[in-house]
Amino acid sequence: MFKYRNLIVSFTGLLVLLLCSSWGFFVHYRVNRLAVFTLPKAMSGFYQSNIELITEHAISADKRRYVDSTEIPHHFFNADAYSKAKDPFKTIPKKWKEAAAKYTIDTLNKNGTLPWTIQYQYYKLVRAFKAHDTTTILITSSNLGHYVADAHVPLHIVLNHDGQLTNQTGIHALWESRLPELLSYKFNYYAGKAHYIDNPLTEAFRICQSSFRRADTVLSAERLLNRTFPQDKKYAMVKRGKRTIKDYSPAYCIAYNKALKGMVERRIRASIVDIGSYWYSAWVDAGQPDLNKLIEKPLSVNQKAAILKEEAFYRKGKTLYTNH
Ligand SMILES: [Zn+2]
Repeated sequence: MFKYRNLIVSFTGLLVLLLCSSWGFFVHYRVNRLAVFTLPKAMSGFYQSNIELITEHAISADKRRYVDSTEIPHHFFNADAYSKAKDPFKTIPKKWKEAAAKYTIDTLNKNGTLPWTIQYQYYKLVRAFKAHDTTTILITSSNLGHYVADAHVPLHIVLNHDGQLTNQTGIHALWESRLPELLSYKFNYYAGKAHYIDNPLTEAFRICQSSFRRADTVLSAERLLNRTFPQDKKYAMVKRGKRTIKDYSPAYCIAYNKALKGMVERRIRASIVDIGSYWYSAWVDAGQPDLNKLIEKPLSVNQKAAILKEEAFYRKGKTLYTNH
């Protein structure tokens, strides 16, 4: 019996992991790709030439979680595990060594290491730029983009990450996957240009803190909606690839998005510019190496035209990218 229970528990764990993929693959692909258009000229040629790789690897970090359990803590940071104060960030040391001395490494791993993962990937990217190591620059940029995007998801920063403590199970995927997949065609993606980040760790904590502040609204808006929305219209059978599954209905998603007053759209935009800013800052910190020399396969005339068109669309807040 116990064995069976363990099996069920581990199966449920896997299922939760599969369902709670951060931001949903759809958004990860999109924000990594659009971040390329926030970069200055000295970087954009290189990143545009490799935009497919940057896009495709946007979800590699999530995939790694299925085969490597040490990858799991990299994607979240349960700030409220450390203090029940309104702003737990006031008392959490930012430096890993100080936080580990205060809480132990085991506790940090248990509650997620997202801000330090961003810091680690950032310096890895700086080193890759300094070494002119094209492959590592691209893979690390993509991974760093993934973690920066994760930090923008409010439910990645709280213990109640799927509403499991407040009878709202499913809200994680509703907020970060279902809603953007359904409504993102209306979103404005223009997030401006990348800027220099003085301190990558402080910035990672700032992003986590700004997500944490929104977690209450993410949960309370759904609780309120659930109370007022006709229950027989809350779910619907929807198509997922070739399968038809029960999921939140389009009407429920639209009502939730309205109740959130555009929060998902704003978090997507913030993800885009912050990803670009991390890439840009790493390049500056590496001494601004000439990236044009690292372009192994220049874009063809047609590919270049397609990228320019995509860039022009981005400036208007739109994306041409629809294949995920
Ligand atoms: Zn993730």
